[in-house]
Amino acid sequence: MRIAVIGAGLSGLSVAHSLRNFTEVQMFEKSRGVGGRLATRRAAGYEFDHGAQFFTCRSKYLESLLKNKNFVDAVTTWEPKLVTLEPRSGSFKRSWFEPHYVGIPSMTAFPKRLARDLDISFSTSVQDITRCKAGWRLNDESGNPLGVFDWVVSAIPAPQADVIFGTLFAERNSMKMARLSPCFALMIALSDRPKLNFDAAVVRKSPISWLALNCSKPARNSPSALVVHSSNDWAYEHIDDKPLDIENHLLTALHQLVDINLLEVKQTYLQRWRYAKVERDIEKEFLIDEENQLAAVGDWCIGNRAEDAFVSGRALAEYLCRILN
Ligand SMILES: Cc1cc2nc3c(=O)[nH]c(=O)nc-3n(C[C@H](O)[C@H](O)[C@H](O)COP(=O)(O)OP(=O)(O)OC[C@H]3O[C@@H](n4cnc5c(N)ncnc54)[C@H](O)[C@@H]3O)c2cc1C
Repeated sequence: MRIAVIGAGLSGLSVAHSLRNFTEVQMFEKSRGVGGRLATRRAAGYEFDHGAQFFTCRSKYLESLLKNKNFVDAVTTWEPKLVTLEPRSGSFKRSWFEPHYVGIPSMTAFPKRLARDLDISFSTSVQDITRCKAGWRLNDESGNPLGVFDWVVSAIPAPQADVIFGTLFAERNSMKMARLSPCFALMIALSDRPKLNFDAAVVRKSPISWLALNCSKPARNSPSALVVHSSNDWAYEHIDDKPLDIENHLLTALHQLVDINLLEVKQTYLQRWRYAKVERDIEKEFLIDEENQLAAVGDWCIGNRAEDAFVSGRALAEYLCRILN
């Protein structure tokens, strides 16, 4: 039995890691590394976790995995000084009521561990799938064949999965119910650690929704790096604006929130996440079309957190083990 998994974010890795001793799994990932929206950008000696900032661990299986000797040194809890910020209103202390985990030394540490021993073709974007006698043939953007598989699992955001599966997938209508909104991440390399009375802030009434001093996370050795996330609504309105305009707008908004000397800004980097946050999930752990041997997983199945992506992938893997055994 050969299974193709499209996407090496947390949901795809969760499927492949769970099935690795059960059957042959081949992963395809369009970027050069694993993790998807659990991402770290490295530039000029700085490091920025510019996607997910942390993840929760409510699932018993994830909890036990994180205690496993293969993972225990890749993840730890983050206990930042956390506040709520509003322009011209000062800051108010916030608390978290459950542990929040981060990868060490970067957010990609956990996906990298999951990816150990998995067969992953990087820089390979799956463009479409076609039926052939022996199963499903996958093709890349140039039309090159990527192999023939019995099952194809999509582990990418629902709108992107729909482009590949389209009408071939009996669960298409359910998949189309998912809604994801965009987000801009502005990464700011500073010459000095700014004098802030917090490590991370949830921001209200601003184009910014979150900011964090990356170096306040455990085991970060890089110099002062600030990560700013736009609000999803603001990103939606400005999705096609010029990158420089976005940067300027977010820097102005930042200036209204905190006393940062813009002269200390050495460099900025911008990332547009077109599918960042799930606004509406489909309330099913995964979608499966057993007749056509197609399935889809992702955070958008059950929530909007990294853990939801992991749980979705794990649930599909358990189901496949049962029906294929
Ligand atoms: C800015 C931001 C902040 C966030 N903050 C948090 C947070 O603090 N806490 C939290 O729990 N969650 C957070 N999230 C959400 C969390 O990151 C996601 O829920 C989770 O990472 C989704 O995992 P996934 O596997 O479903 O999808 P993804 O991580 O999107 O993985 C999909 C993978 O598929 C690849 N891919 C796409 N198309 C193709 C193709 N055609 N062929 C091959 N490969 C393809 C992509 O490159 C990617 O690697 C945040 C997300 C963003 C963007």
